[in-house]
Amino acid sequence: MATKQLYIQTMGCQMNVYDSERMAKVLEPFGYSLTDSIDNADLIIANTCSIREKARHKAVSFIGRQADLKKRKPGLILAIGGCVAQQEGKNLLKQSHHLDLVFGTDTLGRLPGLIKRLENGEGRLTDIELTGIIDEIDPYFGEGKSTEASRFVTIMQGCDNYCTYCVVPYTRGREKSRPPEAIVREIISLARAGVREVTLLGQNVNSYGQKEGLPSFAELLAMINNVDGLERIRFTTSHPKDFGDDLIAAISSLDKVCRHVHLPVQSGSDNILKRMNRNYTRADYIEKVTALRAACPDVAIGSDIIVGFPGETQADFDETLSLIDEIGFDGLFVFAYSDRPDAPSSAFGNKVEEKVKKEQLNQLLKIQEETTRQKNAAMVGREIEVLVEGLSKKGQDNQAPQYSGRTETGKIVNFVSENGSSKAQSGTMVKVSIERALSHSLWGRAVQ
Ligand code: SF4
Repeated sequence: MATKQLYIQTMGCQMNVYDSERMAKVLEPFGYSLTDSIDNADLIIANTCSIREKARHKAVSFIGRQADLKKRKPGLILAIGGCVAQQEGKNLLKQSHHLDLVFGTDTLGRLPGLIKRLENGEGRLTDIELTGIIDEIDPYFGEGKSTEASRFVTIMQGCDNYCTYCVVPYTRGREKSRPPEAIVREIISLARAGVREVTLLGQNVNSYGQKEGLPSFAELLAMINNVDGLERIRFTTSHPKDFGDDLIAAISSLDKVCRHVHLPVQSGSDNILKRMNRNYTRADYIEKVTALRAACPDVAIGSDIIVGFPGETQADFDETLSLIDEIGFDGLFVFAYSDRPDAPSSAFGNKVEEKVKKEQLNQLLKIQEETTRQKNAAMVGREIEVLVEGLSKKGQDNQAPQYSGRTETGKIVNFVSENGSSKAQSGTMVKVSIERALSHSLWGRAVQ
């Protein structure tokens, strides 16, 4: 029945990747099938992200670039969804004369109705109501149909924390969680389709269900751990203030939950943490990490750091350096602070010079590269379980095929399997003997 073509341009985070899949799914019964060719599209959606700099400009120029196509195909529908749409609303229609529809982060489930109205000739539309509900979409993926070993599943959305640098509470609205039954149903369906790993998504997964009186996040993990066929469970993002003992117990006791935790600290200075409104101190953070490592000694811990927050001094930055040294993170994402429209910190004084931010960013990246190199080197000679994601980029050219996969702790492993595809298909677990450590990955050989 699919007669119309849908092209989605996904910008930004993992939740947007998941939302784009939901857009495609919700429109499928109404005759839209996904295409990789923008020229063939009858409906083009830009799924936007406001974390990136100049996000509005990028969204509007993307739609602007479709002007010629729209002239050639007058029936073509152009839409903007996601966080920029939520923030800008009707303004986008003023800035982009070719745009037909602006829809928000909570109104994705209304897409079929909105598209129908446009198809019926109704004028340009905006729907950015923050409904406070995550629309449930048919979770059926088809038996054995997935070509991907790993998929994202949103379990909650929005945030009540109001960190001063962040726009999420304004773009995704207040915190709301999906019912556990719906999440488990979706994951059972994914596992039946061949998916072996899920990453549970939310802006603050640790506070899952608290508002609605649902089971806790740790209890949800226990339910998902029972899904047949699933091998691994990951989750992101955690907030240190909500990272409780029950979650630490779940990570250490549930066999499918990966010993790999991303716990953004953002700064090692209490002064800056306070100005960021993070609601924990450096000592609180160290305490949580110590408890986690005591329960799971082999856990890998990653984090995010923002350098150059307004008012940050050299002494504050030194505190961050010493925290990094004390914790010894397995992976670090480092960002230079920049103002975002609507984020309270945009109005803060004492902005840090761009040159200083750049230097600090490079300093942290160098430190982290060295830590990663040492941690990777320590894995040489070990045999490690890898979830195969497919052929590695160089795989096709080699006589002995090379595959790519990830360890439980999230490290990329490229490996040779003399047995070829019969043993190392996407979605299989393969034991790999690690022979070399590179700066961002490991290299090895499948154990026969
Ligand atoms: S907890 Fe995360 S999503 Fe929520 S306001 Fe803070 S940075 Fe933004």
